[in-house]
Amino acid sequence: MSTDRIPLIKPYVSLDEVQNQFEAIFESGWFTKGRNVAGFREDISAYTGAKYSFTTTSATTALYACLKLLGIGAGDEVIVSDFSFPATANVVEDAGAVPVFADVSLETYNMTAAELRAKISARTKAVIFVDAFGNPSGLDEIKSICAEQDLPLIEDAACAIGSSLDGVKCGNISDLSCFSFHPRKLLNCGEGGAITTNNSEYAEKLEILLNHGARIADGQFDFVESGYNFRMTEIQAAMGIAQLKKLDSIVSSRNEIKAAYDEKLMPLGFIPQKVNKNVITNCQSLVYRVPEGCNRDALVSALAKRNIESTIGTYCLSGLTYYRKKYDAVNPGSEKLQQTTITLPCYDGVDALFVADNVADIINS
Ligand SMILES: *Cc1c(COP(=O)(O)O)cnc(C)c1O
Repeated sequence: MSTDRIPLIKPYVSLDEVQNQFEAIFESGWFTKGRNVAGFREDISAYTGAKYSFTTTSATTALYACLKLLGIGAGDEVIVSDFSFPATANVVEDAGAVPVFADVSLETYNMTAAELRAKISARTKAVIFVDAFGNPSGLDEIKSICAEQDLPLIEDAACAIGSSLDGVKCGNISDLSCFSFHPRKLLNCGEGGAITTNNSEYAEKLEILLNHGARIADGQFDFVESGYNFRMTEIQAAMGIAQLKKLDSIVSSRNEIKAAYDEKLMPLGFIPQKVNKNVITNCQSLVYRVPEGCNRDALVSALAKRNIESTIGTYCLSGLTYYRKKYDAVNPGSEKLQQTTITLPCYDGVDALFVADNVADIINS
């Protein structure tokens, strides 16, 4: 059977949607720190409800800036969700602190309250909760514990733009939220990221940290910190503005695709990522646990032979070679998810029934 290749995701932005903005940027010669970046920051605040928004080069630099902002370094511990992309832990390691891996729920794939409580120590300086595949289920419990323990809560919302909890958008829930605008996510700026917060002190410091450590007073630069250039360009921001306008419709369309997949795959024994009742997920990645006895890697290969792209869910961070060698504390739940989850294609126009029929055909053969 040969078909056009079915990829995991297709971008939600096309050249004609940004052509005019790109032309204006080239005509003006104004490629950075201009009206597109300013506009995108305002739009992110308006969309999420967060008071302050900053754009960055990636979610990785956004997370790193948050740790620097909190003064986290040698001798400190940061509790991180164990089922995630390596960047979540790498930033902690790179800041000189110790990432303490909290195991996750086999249902929601997110850090559990019990694990968080068990991992808090006198050295804990912050918590990084990951919205696995855009799904903030359980974040409410984690937020209460952080408030009770007076620990700053950083949300790795890299996947979660457009998701919400109790009617509040991700970006307006935690002390600091970090987004990614990598092409694999729903809002694609080529590369890029954002930080949102409601804390004015954090906002003041971020403005400095993200701009070479400079405080601007009376048009003069005063370099008061050792900061960075983590800024996105005008071109990236123009792409972001175009997509944010249609994000809510992208989220509903992805949830319809998920429902079509669920209907076909659940009878085969596939278990979808659980979405709590108070959550709307953006379905950034459509992830299932494969049926008992099904070899996930063999399924991914068999789908590839049929020109259908699929991949693992994501990584058990405590089990990555670097972290396993250094800390030797692999979490069982997250390890099981790394071995048994699969991501299936999800984008506007994907033929979910065709993909699901192929999955069924492979499983039953
Ligand atoms: C994609 C992703 C990142 C990294 O995002 P970049 O923008 O590529 O730096 C970090 N954390 C999670 C959970 C991600 O999915």
